[in-house]
Amino acid sequence: MYRIVFLGPPGAGKGTQAARLARALSIPHLSTGDLLRSAIAEKTPLGLRAERFVTAGELVPDALVLEILKERLGRSDTARGFVLDGYPRNPEQAEKLAALAPIDRVVAFDLPLEVVTERLGGRRVCPVCQAVYNLHTQPPRIEGKCDRDGASLETRPDDRPESVATRFRLYREKTEPLIRFYRDRNLLVTIDANGPPETVYARLTAALGLASDMAPGRDASVYSGGGARRSGPA
Ligand code: ADP
Ligand code: AMP
Repeated sequence: MYRIVFLGPPGAGKGTQAARLARALSIPHLSTGDLLRSAIAEKTPLGLRAERFVTAGELVPDALVLEILKERLGRSDTARGFVLDGYPRNPEQAEKLAALAPIDRVVAFDLPLEVVTERLGGRRVCPVCQAVYNLHTQPPRIEGKCDRDGASLETRPDDRPESVATRFRLYREKTEPLIRFYRDRNLLVTIDANGPPETVYARLTAALGLASDMAPGRDASVYSGGGARRSGPA
């Protein structure tokens, strides 16, 4: 069973690594940010209520995020585990998660603020499949187009500098204390998340006690190989 949580500042590479690890382990990547952005795009009642918070870089009220997470965790594909990215973001959410699903490991992504700021500045996302690219470090094959479906890539509204400042502040105030919370529960592993995606992925699999060759991929944003060959955290 792999119930893994990723913690780290915005732009740390959580989504990039989560997509790849989930694929390698054949478990779903659950991102509350992606779930909220889909709800916003589909203009569901929840999406309409969440939109202004997401755009401003503020935390969406706990009850709304919990609703969307519960629904997702309740689907059958989570039976063998999941990689959860973007939740919890404050101590109240950590308590809710503990009640919803026991967690096997929490991976904290450690890297300097200058690096995440630069990464966020170059981030581009596919509005259709949510694949993540970077103008500087992980460009698409055809400029401005998603490698998978050809859709025009977009800048996330909350990657604009005003929202980024709010997100960093909230990360420091609300989310960073969770590192201690999980360390105290003996669930935490920390990885150096600075460096190319391949290197970070190798550190991630090592930290989780997985075979280093379990996911021989070339491109972290649109990784398409893999398959679990070994059991990891139980
Ligand atoms: P998060 O989910 O933590 O907010 P992302 O996975 O979306 O972060 O990554 C933020 C940006 O940095 C994206 O544009 C992504 O392509 C790029 N990126 C991710 N990992 C790396 C890395 N190891 N080196 C350089 N750029 C990266
Ligand atoms: P992310 O994709 O993780 O960077 O999240 C994007 C935005 O979605 C955040 O800035 C918040 O507005 C919202 N969001 C995502 N996850 C949560 C959460 N667990 N609690 C509150 N807001 C969230």
